[in-house]
Amino acid sequence: MQQYLKYFALIFLLPAKSPLLAQGIPVGKDSVLELEISEREKWQASPLWLEKQVIQEEIKKFAYNLLRYAVTYRDIFNVLRITHWDAALIQNIPSLVPIQQAQIKNFKITSGFGYREHPINGEYRFHGGIDIPAPHGTPVYAVANVIVNRVVKFHYSLGNFIQLNHLNGFITIYGHLLRFIVFPRQVVKQGQVIGYVGQSGLSTGNHLHYILIKNGLPLDPYPFCFLMYDKFKAEKKRSYSGSSK
Ligand SMILES: [Zn+2]
Repeated sequence: MQQYLKYFALIFLLPAKSPLLAQGIPVGKDSVLELEISEREKWQASPLWLEKQVIQEEIKKFAYNLLRYAVTYRDIFNVLRITHWDAALIQNIPSLVPIQQAQIKNFKITSGFGYREHPINGEYRFHGGIDIPAPHGTPVYAVANVIVNRVVKFHYSLGNFIQLNHLNGFITIYGHLLRFIVFPRQVVKQGQVIGYVGQSGLSTGNHLHYILIKNGLPLDPYPFCFLMYDKFKAEKKRSYSGSSK
């Protein structure tokens, strides 16, 4: 008798797990899954979600326009930042050290961008690029995706050089090469070897003369060498802070 009482008490005291169960309708795992999916679908159909998509599209359009007209490093850096270092975008922007480097902190240049006394003819004039010293035969990389525009042999000043015309008005030039291994109209990927360091043309030693032009104006290529590294740093920081893209 006591056992029966316990049994009835349990039936009345146990809360019903779901309205369906209470009505005697079996609840399978499938319907639980359906509920979860419909929650996500509800979120994706909400005005807030749609607004977020529209805003993201607008930001992208704005960023691409800004990139096309940007003529300063700061503007280009900001484009990358507002697009969360968009991978497709940065592959088309000069964003690498153009020669093989063991570590980014070892990267050094022997002559910067700007006015200087020319080491050979002594004239005080504009140095439109940076000089990166490297041993004879060091591989030279394309700094962004590109279709090769121009290769020149035995130029009186730049020696053997390669000119790459990238998207969005970027041009990069690699001078004093020992030799190049690409040809015009060849499709080249960012980081691909295009030639080797030498001292052809007007040069006092083995180095790469690296030029970066944006919308027809030369820019200091130095900060651009670290853009990919900045992307890496930004992503590392984001993953540590726990927020996802
Ligand atoms: Zn130079």
